[in-house]
Amino acid sequence: MDSKYTVKVPNNFNLPRRIGRLGELAYNLWWVWNPEAQLLYRLIDRTYWETSYHNPVSFLRGVSRPALNAVLNDRYYLDMYDRVFKAFDLHMTTTDTWYSRTVPQHSQNSIAYFSFEFGLHESLPVYAGGLGVLSGDHLKESSDLGLPLVGVGFVYNEGYFQQRITEDGWQETRNTHIDFAEKPICPLLNHEGKPLTISVDLPERKVHARIWLVQVGRIPLYLLDTNLEENTPADRQLNARLYSNDLETRISQEIMLGVGGVRTLRELGYNPTVWHMNEGHSAFLILERARELVDEGFSFEEAIGRTRTTNVFTTHTPVPAGNDQFPLWLLEKYGSVLAQGIKLEREQFIDLGRQPQSWGDMFSMPVLALKYSDGRNAVSELHGQVSRRMWNFLWKDVDEDDVPITHITNGIHSASWLARRMRILFDRYLGVDWMQKVDDLDVWARAGNIPDGELWAVRNHLKRKLAMFANERARQSWSTGGVAPVQVVASGVLMEPYALTIGFARRFATYKRADLLLQDFDRLLSIINNPSMPVQIIFAGKAHPADEPSKMIIQKVYRAVKNSRTAGRLIFLEDYDMNVARYLVQGVDVWLNTPRRPNEASGTSGMKAALNGVLQFSTLDGWWREGYNGRNGWAIGQDKEFDDIAQQDAVDAASLYEILEDQIVPLYYHNRTSDSLPVEWIAMMKESIRTLAPQFSTHRMVKEYMQQMYEPAMRAVKK
Ligand SMILES: *Cc1c(COP(=O)(O)O)cnc(C)c1O
Repeated sequence: MDSKYTVKVPNNFNLPRRIGRLGELAYNLWWVWNPEAQLLYRLIDRTYWETSYHNPVSFLRGVSRPALNAVLNDRYYLDMYDRVFKAFDLHMTTTDTWYSRTVPQHSQNSIAYFSFEFGLHESLPVYAGGLGVLSGDHLKESSDLGLPLVGVGFVYNEGYFQQRITEDGWQETRNTHIDFAEKPICPLLNHEGKPLTISVDLPERKVHARIWLVQVGRIPLYLLDTNLEENTPADRQLNARLYSNDLETRISQEIMLGVGGVRTLRELGYNPTVWHMNEGHSAFLILERARELVDEGFSFEEAIGRTRTTNVFTTHTPVPAGNDQFPLWLLEKYGSVLAQGIKLEREQFIDLGRQPQSWGDMFSMPVLALKYSDGRNAVSELHGQVSRRMWNFLWKDVDEDDVPITHITNGIHSASWLARRMRILFDRYLGVDWMQKVDDLDVWARAGNIPDGELWAVRNHLKRKLAMFANERARQSWSTGGVAPVQVVASGVLMEPYALTIGFARRFATYKRADLLLQDFDRLLSIINNPSMPVQIIFAGKAHPADEPSKMIIQKVYRAVKNSRTAGRLIFLEDYDMNVARYLVQGVDVWLNTPRRPNEASGTSGMKAALNGVLQFSTLDGWWREGYNGRNGWAIGQDKEFDDIAQQDAVDAASLYEILEDQIVPLYYHNRTSDSLPVEWIAMMKESIRTLAPQFSTHRMVKEYMQQMYEPAMRAVKK
């Protein structure tokens, strides 16, 4: 990197010197996956830590002086402070990493990772769902493994919307402006002290973007922001919101990300070896890379030939309709500058992203990415099969099985999703260095050593925490005066900490079938209202504001939740985000997932639950088809695809009720020891942890990206 710019870390908290580095740590999200680092903030003022939504920047801005002074006399606190900063400094400076040990010959290489959204923490709401959380976890794991990776994305001035449900179950959205001064994000400034900017040509104008830095351990994440005075009012709004429904906004965003992202890295002095596109939104980067070579005198064919070996594309969408695509008139309007840059005529340019006529006359971003990336992967084994079938038309002369798209199954960043109390148990029984070997099966074989009583005590603790969280949220919404009493019940005040608790939380998309459980409402009522074996079910999730069918499913669920016949045993937690997700995946007993196969490319929330000892109860779609072994959870329906959706739904619903009645509920309540431990349930929890935790972590996943995608590209360049 060169010195054309400086990073302006605001860090102006005026802290006592002995704990002054808390300000520095606030701007490095490393604290997110290190529980003792979190404690350094929380222990100062627990209530205010909650009020500031676990955001160290706004916390340090507002916390009282006496609270800060108090910890200065606390030996225990200061010891922890010193320990945390020793670990932090080691993490940031060590040259002995998995990467340096495994591929020392590639020490000079680097990887650019592009994504439309990054889910790193609830305090930085620039994500909508699973795709963003996966990107965030990819960065955190890259920091842990020492990959020379840099992230590129968008900062959204209004983040993702906040959700409120009306008394009648209708989702209302609220957009709030993000105050960057309160966020762990730093502006990059040029030598005049002005924002560092790049610019991109859009129809009849240039759009400028400034660059922000989010530091994720060792990994820098650069976020583009067009909210600048030089831009027109419309362009200033370009990065107001995620997944705008307006296609002109969308294509402008994607050109900014793809083209502007490459320029950003160049401006900062990076020369990445590998360019990884997480989903097709950033695929215009392919054209910008080609343009750079065309400017040097190469033909388009030569330019593409030289760059494709180092492009990597990950697809996440198993159905054509879900793919990112643009009508041709829009492409003509917006793409002409791109086409000129690489010296292509209109038809040639449209061919880059042409899809079968039967899918509609559209320019497809994944087609562009698949055609011009040598690394291509789906995100689970089944999704790999589906993708090879779906994209076979791009490789007409090969059989479906030989279509060059592999799969790397998703994972989760274990340290970010594991409950602190579970981590303490694992530290004790798996060996102190288990975190460095998360993908090692031998480590997890020791899960059997955890005493039943200790494991159960932690599970009960986490379930109580979830109940208290729901209660506190209910209290707050009631106190606003804006909700009906029945909504307070719906938000979980009648939750029981000792009843079997099932969680269902994810984006509401119709294929996820949140209402499958409601197909036979009377049967459901008899299950949840059994007085000696009660069951409670917690729902959470947002629907895209323009997705009316999914909003109607929320309404259907919410009306069921409100129904007095459920006796408060169905619950809806509003405003699902990473914080709510953590409470749920750590606090429930069973994680329910009912995607209509094969629509769930992978799914990751179930992996978070499994790591915490929560048992899976899911259709055999996405990751669960690989994870399920007959003893570590339950499979809904059959291991096959259906042609008739209504039949598929009926088969799956019947299976769901049957397993719930005959297996899950009895296993939880029967066969208890004299001190009330459900021994068979606990045995299944251990089997689940043992088999799923090593396999479905980003520790395994990022290593596979390195070995199967990044390294071959690096080798190709060396040659
Ligand atoms: C993990 C996570 C998701 C993804 O959940 P899926 O089950 O894969 O759909 C979505 N949103 C949030 C906030 C998450 O933490």
